[in-house]
Amino acid sequence: MRFIADRLNRIKPSPSSMAGQRARELRATGRDIIGLTSGEPDFDTPPNVCVAVMQAMTASKTKYTDVGGTPELKAAIQAKFRRDNGLDYAASELIVGTGGKQIIFNALMCTVETGDEVIVPTPYWVSYPDIVLLADGKPVFVACPPDNGFKMRPADLERAITPRTRWLVLNAPNNPSGAAYSHEELKALAEVLLRHPHVWIMTDDIYEHILYDGRRFATIAEVEPALKERTLTINGVSKAYAMTGWRIGYGGAPAALIKAMVKLQSQSTSNASSISQAAALEALSGPQEFIAERTRIFQSRRDLVVAELNRMPGIVCHSPEGAFYAFPSCAGVIGKTTPEGKVLRSDEDFVLYLLEAQNLAVLQGDAYGVSPFFRISFATSVAQLEEGCRRLRLACEALR
Ligand code: PLP
Repeated sequence: MRFIADRLNRIKPSPSSMAGQRARELRATGRDIIGLTSGEPDFDTPPNVCVAVMQAMTASKTKYTDVGGTPELKAAIQAKFRRDNGLDYAASELIVGTGGKQIIFNALMCTVETGDEVIVPTPYWVSYPDIVLLADGKPVFVACPPDNGFKMRPADLERAITPRTRWLVLNAPNNPSGAAYSHEELKALAEVLLRHPHVWIMTDDIYEHILYDGRRFATIAEVEPALKERTLTINGVSKAYAMTGWRIGYGGAPAALIKAMVKLQSQSTSNASSISQAAALEALSGPQEFIAERTRIFQSRRDLVVAELNRMPGIVCHSPEGAFYAFPSCAGVIGKTTPEGKVLRSDEDFVLYLLEAQNLAVLQGDAYGVSPFFRISFATSVAQLEEGCRRLRLACEALR
């Protein structure tokens, strides 16, 4: 008897979660694994957030809340959008969900009809195409060339738009490439979008605060206010506040879309955890200075990792402008032979070789739609990064 529905065959488990799980399993067998796959800061949740949560618990803020979020958290999100992005959203234009991921899921499920197209620039965060497929849509990939800093060219966007295009997904700073658009670069994309009024924009700004070299963050509805009426601006507390496990994300969009998303959420998870909402409220309205301090730490790790990578035979890495991933090309090792006599034919072969030969876990570019590349997370200690780079160099040097 066939029991699992066909729609599940269209998608794959999240490669980053699987890689993390595999590293944990190998460690449990006694292997000394260095894992550079994790998409979460190694920092702790800020102490003021933990205190606020204890208070919320003792004040019995442990019941169901409004499906789309508590009024207090929505007010804090309104203030955040005004403070950081110059965007004004009414409470009816906001939704809180269980992670940014649920916001993306809600939006695509509510709007994509069979065969509708969603433009996903490559490289992409692994979940976008699979959620589009679950919604019966068709991901349309647009290459963001490495020699253009992994950024989408306006002409390539224009070519990808058809009458079936529902959404363009934007994600900058980008996971995995670290590419971040400047105000001017976003303006050039906005000009294309203004010519295609049927296309909505989903901008995933989750790495907003993790931006290097003094760059200023820009988001599309701020850069081109005329697009706000067809933009869903997504953010969350996972990355900036080191709160991945609390599972709070949020979105701002026209009220009709938000209303549909709340309706869908009311029949799936209901409200995001009440305690986590109290945590997010404190994160967004408490002290913010530590974010810049942590970003400086990420930047020094970036500099270390990128410099090391560019010294390795066969590896070339551009310097990411934001987020906490390096995304080097491994084109120079493809076709080479390992000491065990295996020829490396893909980035997946290379990543498996690193795991087997050097107990080093990284992720193949193929999972992000671009080969031959691999992703290294530098959201971990300098000691781990140095040891990871040492192992990577040994692995590269052993190839013939
Ligand atoms: N968007 C991007 C680009 C991400 O990298 C991630 C997590 O890795 C998410 C969204 C999901 O974040 P959340 O923890 O808010 O669901």
